[in-house]
Amino acid sequence: MADPNATLLRELPSIDRLLNHGRCAALLTRYNRDYVTQKCRAALDRLRADIRQGKSQLLNDDAIIDQVEAWIELESRPGHIRVVNATGTILHTNLGRALLSQAAIDAMVAVAGKPVNLEYDLAAGKRGKREETLQQLLVDLTGAEAATVVNNNAAAVLLGLNSLAQGKEVIVSRGELIEIGGAFRIPEIMAKSGAKLREVGATNRTHPADYENAINDKTALLLKVHTSNYKVVGFTAEVTLEQMVAIGRKHNLPVMEDLGSGALIDLSKYGLPKEPLVGERIAAGADVVTFSGDKILGGPQAGLMVGKKELIGKINRNHLQRALRCGKLTLAALEATLRRYRQSPNITEEIPTLRAFTRSVDEVRAMGQSVLPKLAAALGDGYQLSLQDSTSQIGSGAMPTEELPTVVITVESTKQSANAIAKRFRQADPPIIGRIQEDRFLLDLRTIFDADDLIPQLRSE
Ligand SMILES: *Cc1c(COP(=O)(O)O)cnc(C)c1O
Repeated sequence: MADPNATLLRELPSIDRLLNHGRCAALLTRYNRDYVTQKCRAALDRLRADIRQGKSQLLNDDAIIDQVEAWIELESRPGHIRVVNATGTILHTNLGRALLSQAAIDAMVAVAGKPVNLEYDLAAGKRGKREETLQQLLVDLTGAEAATVVNNNAAAVLLGLNSLAQGKEVIVSRGELIEIGGAFRIPEIMAKSGAKLREVGATNRTHPADYENAINDKTALLLKVHTSNYKVVGFTAEVTLEQMVAIGRKHNLPVMEDLGSGALIDLSKYGLPKEPLVGERIAAGADVVTFSGDKILGGPQAGLMVGKKELIGKINRNHLQRALRCGKLTLAALEATLRRYRQSPNITEEIPTLRAFTRSVDEVRAMGQSVLPKLAAALGDGYQLSLQDSTSQIGSGAMPTEELPTVVITVESTKQSANAIAKRFRQADPPIIGRIQEDRFLLDLRTIFDADDLIPQLRSE
């Protein structure tokens, strides 16, 4: 008696037959032949293995191509997809930090697919400088003499230390030896820069004399680090930037400050906690200040460095700068963001990060009220929704002890745990990320600008 499996295996289509099928021909207009062939082969291999195990009857060619198309569809999805940030954390590092303003997005689109005069001087018809306009904007906005830009603030700190103190000592207070998310640590970055860390003071208290006593002929730099993601409270003493600058001047040593977030506008005008202003730090005498492009500034990922002309010049002549520099997309987005800071009549409306910070609770609550019935309808029976006052976090290690008043929608169910509800929202299209607090699932409205974002395209349960 013939082996029925052997008969099935013999009847499997050849690769060529599959590729000549009308549906595969359509695939071949969008995907290359090797790729489609690989998927056809994989589908046949799987079918063959199933037949051998007695798990499959021969399928027709269309069913095989269904599988090929399903795989290709799956592999065509980007690794990073859009999500809805209803966590309430405004600068959420895991969700990509700052959202760009329309001006920044337009600027990126304008340069993405076309040549630009990135390093080309149009008037002279020869090679020009890459960051000239950007530098001018930073100078205008901060009052510094000069500026430069690298990939992120971690790179800016690394480059600053390497340029100004390689093979020499850098004095830092023990109260400022920070670690921030993603393994950025001052001692480690210092070691990589080739500078030697000279710790002074104690975790909670450092005095001017600690710096004075540590200065020797190997000292190259005094570094101040903004403790952006924690606060030392209680019996504390900090040496202010002004005091460090005075010590630096006396010993002819530059002072660099890593500001972390670094604000360009005073948020305390909007009732928010005050983040150090870059301009104020320059005015206080800092020789170099570094800060992030995608924290409170609300621009693209970048590391901004402003300060004395001579030192920024030295930084720009360092070959490491070439390895850490930004591409044209970043430069375009950053320049557009800074230009709006310079020109906008109402910058807090234009920069989504600033808008999230400064929106009134009333506005947030009104959005909640309008969305509540729609959300109830989308979720169906079995859920209890309510609006409640709560607090949002700033995030990305900015203002760790400060919270902003907000309004949240609590979503509860007698049948589902908070975790199960959170999962259901994560599986929506696009995924909606909320937060769980005291065993309840919450959607924080401070970080939601479009109410419809919260109406989930839910997959059925
Ligand atoms: C966030 C932060 C950094 C790192 O900045 P990135 O732009 O994320 O590289 C460095 N120092 C401080 C104090 C920070 O807060």
